[in-house]
Amino acid sequence: MIQFDHVSKTYPGGHTALDELTLDIRHGELLVLAGHSGAGKSTLLKLVAALESPSSGRVMVNGLDVGRMRQSQIPYLRRSLGLVMQEHRLLMDRSVLDNVMLPLQVSGEIARTSKREAITRASVALEKVGLSGFEKALPVTLSGGEQQRVAIARAIVNRPSILIADEPTAHLDPAYARDIAALFRSFHAAGVTLILATHDDTLYSPYGARRIELAHGKLMQ
Ligand code: ADP
Ligand code: ADP
Repeated sequence: MIQFDHVSKTYPGGHTALDELTLDIRHGELLVLAGHSGAGKSTLLKLVAALESPSSGRVMVNGLDVGRMRQSQIPYLRRSLGLVMQEHRLLMDRSVLDNVMLPLQVSGEIARTSKREAITRASVALEKVGLSGFEKALPVTLSGGEQQRVAIARAIVNRPSILIADEPTAHLDPAYARDIAALFRSFHAAGVTLILATHDDTLYSPYGARRIELAHGKLMQ
C-alpha cells in the first residue's frame, strides 16, 4: 500500500536525507523505523504524508503518486492518513474536544456532516485513547502522556487506514510510553497500517512489528 521506489530527498542547502531508498509497506503492517538522529526517519514519514516531496524516485500511497499529485488530491490523501508528528502542536487555548475536531474542520468534514456528528466522532476518538471525560479540559492542564493521547485522538478522528507517528513516546515517562505503545498496538490489531519512528522499538518488536533501520538515508540490513 506504500511503496518507495529509489527515493532520494535532498533539502535545499544540499543535505541528502534519503538516498535511493526502496521499500514496500504492506497493508496492515506495523513498521518500526529505527536509526540515529539525522538518519532520515522524519523525512521518510513526511514523504508518505506529502509534507515533503521526493527529489527523485517515486512514493506511492494508496495508489497515489504523492510526489506528483495535484494540489486538489492532497485532502484525499490526508483523510486516509493520521499523523502524530514530533511537535504535537495542540491549541492550548482550545478545549480537548475542539483540538480533536480540528482535522474534521480542515478536511471540510464538518460542512459535509454536522457539527453534532463531528462532536460524536471526536468523542469516540477520545474514548479510544482513554480520555473520555476530558472533552472540556484545556490541554495545558493535562500531563505529557495525556497531551500525547489527545494528539493521537486527533490523528485517528478521520478513522485513517494509515497512522504515522514520529517519536510518539520520546518525552514520556516509561509508564506513559508503555500505555501509548499499547494503544498503537491496539490500532494495529484493528487493521490499521502503522509506521512509527522510535528509539523504543522494544515496545513493539515482541508484537509482530517489522523493524528497519536507517543510516545516512539508506536502509541497513
Ligand atoms: P531523523 O528523523 O532520523 O532524525 P531527519 O529526516 O529529520 O532525520 O533528517 C535527516 C537529515 O536531513 C538531517 O541531516 C537533517 O538535518 C536534514 N534535514 C531535515 N529536515 C531538513 C530541512 N527542512 N532542511 C534542511 N535539512 C533538513
Ligand atoms: P466500530 O466498532 O467503531 O464500528 P470497527 O469495527 O471498524 O469500529 O473497528 C473496531 C475497532 O478498531 C474500533 O472501535 C477502533 O478501536 C479500532 N479502529 C478501527 N479503525 C481504526 C482507525 N482507522 N483508527 C483508529 N482505530 C481504529
